[in-house]
Amino acid sequence: MTLTLGNIAKTFPCGTRALRPTDLEIEQGEILSLLGPSGCGKSTLLRIIAGLETPDPGASIVFDGEDVTHQSVDRRKIGMVFQSYALFPNMSVRGNIGYGLKMQKLPRAEIAARVEEVIELCRLEPYADRAITALSGGQRQRVALARAMAPRPRVLLLDEPLSALDAALRGQLRDELALLLREFGITAIFVTHDQDEAMAIADRVAVMSQGEVAQIGTPEALYRNPATGFVARFVGDAMPLEGHIERETLHLQGGMLGLPRASDGQQVLVRAEDIRIDPQGPIAARVETVTFLGTHYRIALSGAMTGPLFMLHAGFSAPKPGDKVRISIPPEALLVLPLDTAA
Ligand code: ATP
Repeated sequence: MTLTLGNIAKTFPCGTRALRPTDLEIEQGEILSLLGPSGCGKSTLLRIIAGLETPDPGASIVFDGEDVTHQSVDRRKIGMVFQSYALFPNMSVRGNIGYGLKMQKLPRAEIAARVEEVIELCRLEPYADRAITALSGGQRQRVALARAMAPRPRVLLLDEPLSALDAALRGQLRDELALLLREFGITAIFVTHDQDEAMAIADRVAVMSQGEVAQIGTPEALYRNPATGFVARFVGDAMPLEGHIERETLHLQGGMLGLPRASDGQQVLVRAEDIRIDPQGPIAARVETVTFLGTHYRIALSGAMTGPLFMLHAGFSAPKPGDKVRISIPPEALLVLPLDTAA
């Protein structure tokens, strides 16, 4: 199903402007993530699509050419998965999945067939007769997904579906969820504040800030070509290089970097993985702290720059705190962006 959102805005009665006018087009089978910090309006947008919240006048929500803006939640035929899963704890997996279908008063044979279909799709066969209380967090997540899919929704909406799980399980289920959604072939929108989650699951990510979509694109496009400092910092933790640009050169306390195509009034950001220790490097720095993280060392540099700068260093040894080093940054890794506008 293709979903077209036009001019979606939301001002709550208390005056809070949760969403500024927003347009979005989501293609059939596409998985879109709404990513942003707390309070940026992502849940409000999802709730408006679901029909749980009314947008300001002038909005339009179109599902495959059908205007559903004024339709109730039920008529929109949406599947929803919430953070808490909201499963009935004492009911079996089958009971939970079939519950909504029973409420719809579907024929018994059809309910049974659909329940079995999603149980198989979500690989829940071994647990189908267990009570929810006897399942792990990951298994519960799959039941919530199966329950949402059983009525064959037109679109699946997921609000922070992994946030109730511990870090290790989240990583594993992230990949599983990405795979399942693709197997379903369903159009899906999911809300998260976790960059890794958005990038691992979504075809496209809409980065939101203060009630607006700051940028929308594939994870790779957002990472490589962020449009604003906010997006660069939020997607990939880019750090500003504290210097000034003059005649296509960035002047830092510890050295200079050539910046063709850059001009005064822009900012330059860099990511930790793009900084190298390089005896011939153009910038002098001092090692402040070195943290061993198994796959790499995380090194905080200072002295040369105004603010602390982190870099990642792979290998069997690392410099020590207090060492003076030289660093280099490949020019293509520098993110030259407009200065942030004051909010
Ligand atoms: P989080 O990740 O913390 O859930 P979010 O990005 O989903 O945040 P929303 O829940 O959409 O953000 O909220 C956006 C803004 O609207 C916030 O400033 C919030 O306080 C406000 N808001 C949300 N619901 C209401 C409400 N019912 N009445 C008034 N203000 C609200």
